[in-house]
Amino acid sequence: MYKIDSQKAEEFICHEEILDTLAYAQSKSQDKELIRSIIEKARLCKGLSHREAAVLLECNDPELVEEIYHLAREIKQKFYGNRIVMFAPLYLSNYCVNSCTYCPYHAKNKTIARKKLTQEDIRREVIALQDMGHKRLALEAGEDPIHNPLEYILESIQTIYSIKHKNGAIRRVNVNIAATTVENYRRLKEAGIGTYILFQETYHKENYEKLHPRGPKSNYAYHTEAMDRAMQGGIDDVGIGVLFGLNTYRYDFVGLLMHAEHLEATYGVGPHTISVPRICSADDIDASTFENAISDEIFQKIVAVIRISVPYTGMIISTRESQRSREKVLALGVSQISGGSRTSVGGYATEELPEENSAQFDVSDHRSLDEIVAWLLKLGYIPSFCTACYREGRTGDRFMSLVKTGQIANCCAPNALMTLQEYLYDYASPETRRLAEDMIRKQMEEIPNPAIRKRALENLERIAEGKRDFRF
Ligand code: SF4
Ligand code: SF4
Repeated sequence: MYKIDSQKAEEFICHEEILDTLAYAQSKSQDKELIRSIIEKARLCKGLSHREAAVLLECNDPELVEEIYHLAREIKQKFYGNRIVMFAPLYLSNYCVNSCTYCPYHAKNKTIARKKLTQEDIRREVIALQDMGHKRLALEAGEDPIHNPLEYILESIQTIYSIKHKNGAIRRVNVNIAATTVENYRRLKEAGIGTYILFQETYHKENYEKLHPRGPKSNYAYHTEAMDRAMQGGIDDVGIGVLFGLNTYRYDFVGLLMHAEHLEATYGVGPHTISVPRICSADDIDASTFENAISDEIFQKIVAVIRISVPYTGMIISTRESQRSREKVLALGVSQISGGSRTSVGGYATEELPEENSAQFDVSDHRSLDEIVAWLLKLGYIPSFCTACYREGRTGDRFMSLVKTGQIANCCAPNALMTLQEYLYDYASPETRRLAEDMIRKQMEEIPNPAIRKRALENLERIAEGKRDFRF
């Protein structure tokens, strides 16, 4: 039975409710009046239910689909302006005891080079990342209690935060590791992590079990209830996501929104971010064998409908996506992207390309961070290296209340410009620097609050004089 605030996976992600929702959405897919009314409801920026969102996803009327896209762009602009937050993944270890059939780190893969970074390796990786200009990382590691115990992850986080190279610093470490216990989530929180990220992969239990035949991850309920335990352990910023292509996208789309609704209903705070990766080839994994792989058009529609269904939740895409695909979905709702990513263990400190065979997936967007920053600026976006909320204690419901009242924009815009100013002084190529200076000049005039604008201008001058790390 469907129970939104249950602690049991099979009740808050109820299979029957998903099937009923899909049947309902199918039956209403031509009902223009209903679809228009849902779009009007979404315009209020209070979000949509999973049923309403499913109806929009089913809609194929070109005029109405264009209205959905138009509204997605408007909501994106309203909540996130033209800012795009930058981050990079850091792979600590690809040892893994699990058997995920879509990931080359699966335990039975004997062709992949297994690696685990030592603390000294991590120092080298972090210095390389700092030298690119990154301030925000997402830590990645396979599940392996012998090679990658929680103590190793905690020590690595400590190492990362301790490294101050030239003007560089990693100011926020998000963590993407296997589902764990409440106690371990508490320890991660104490270590100062930003968001805890865990992808569900698919919400379809039967398929989930086929895709994860062995290892601790094969326990669907334990995996699906991980965010509940994270919240109970005090982590109030969690990031959810599915790997589109593993299962039918409609099913997982509904499951994703039900998960978000469950967190909001149970803990008073929805997910901080939603990631939308698509299945992708790597080593012994061939993405073309996955019959549920989705087209660019469907992908864009998913992003747009998520944007209007959960306006307060950041949306993330990685370098799995090509430049072209990224450009499309940035306008429709994505607010965070990775740049200059290496998806192998130890990939940043080595100059060699292509990456040796320890990568988790093939990267489609191979541009450097500086090239990505320049590209975003040319498209009219402000690349932001802001990490202010987490460092100011604005997490969970405190963060959400600022977002819901729209007040966060008073922080995001000046923070984006100040961190871009740091980037242009410390890391930008001459061309990127010129573009960034133009952007900062124009955007400073757009800050509506005169007191904040004045303080931000003073801080820009102090950054030019060599000072760092200002934030609102
Ligand atoms: Fe291991 Fe994660 Fe890859 Fe599964 S997806 S094999 S848990 S690294
Ligand atoms: Fe994100 Fe907060 Fe910075 Fe805005 S001020 S970009 S919400 S960290």
